[in-house]
Amino acid sequence: MGKMGVLFVFSGPSGVGKGTLKKRLLEEFKGQIVDSVSATTREPRKDEQDGREYFFISRQEFDRRVENNDFLEHAEFSGNCYGTPRENVMNLLNRGIDVVLEIDVQGARQVREKMSDCVSIFILPPSFEELEHRLRERHTETEDKILERLETARREIPCAPEYDYQIVNNDLDAAYDQLRNVYVHAAQRA
Ligand code: 5GP
Repeated sequence: MGKMGVLFVFSGPSGVGKGTLKKRLLEEFKGQIVDSVSATTREPRKDEQDGREYFFISRQEFDRRVENNDFLEHAEFSGNCYGTPRENVMNLLNRGIDVVLEIDVQGARQVREKMSDCVSIFILPPSFEELEHRLRERHTETEDKILERLETARREIPCAPEYDYQIVNNDLDAAYDQLRNVYVHAAQRA
């Protein structure tokens, strides 16, 4: 049997820039690492496409998939459900391709239980004030949702020590360098 891919778990509060960092990693290591497209019951945002950012499904369909054990992990976040389709991830890993999951703290705990050799990374904001600023700059959420996400961030940030690595995203280039080092190191070790 060939070499298995490495599973990377990425978490951090909404607005911390983890999506941007992930995108950069996927671009630099195209063909070696891919991200998994999650299913969600959340409404698509303006520029989002079904099957690209997420598979947008109904609550009923989500529950059916949970029942069917189709998800590697799933969690409720800010009033919506999110889940990682298991089969696609396992197929990629079996083919020796690395996979990154951008998931919340609850989902990361489930993945660590099931896949003990995964590599987990938590992205931290330089400060809570800066996080609030970035979340507002995005203009993707209503005020209610922003407050809810900030509240969630207050609960999530203390979970950072559960992760193998913590990276503070103050300067994007510096944060990316650290992420890149973690990736190259972990991917070689496997
Ligand atoms: P958003 O609604 O901003 O796209 O995502 C909200 C949160 O849900 C983010 O923290 C994101 O990492 C997390 N998330 C996205 N997909 C999944 C998933 O499949 N499982 C879990 N547990 N969390 C997810």
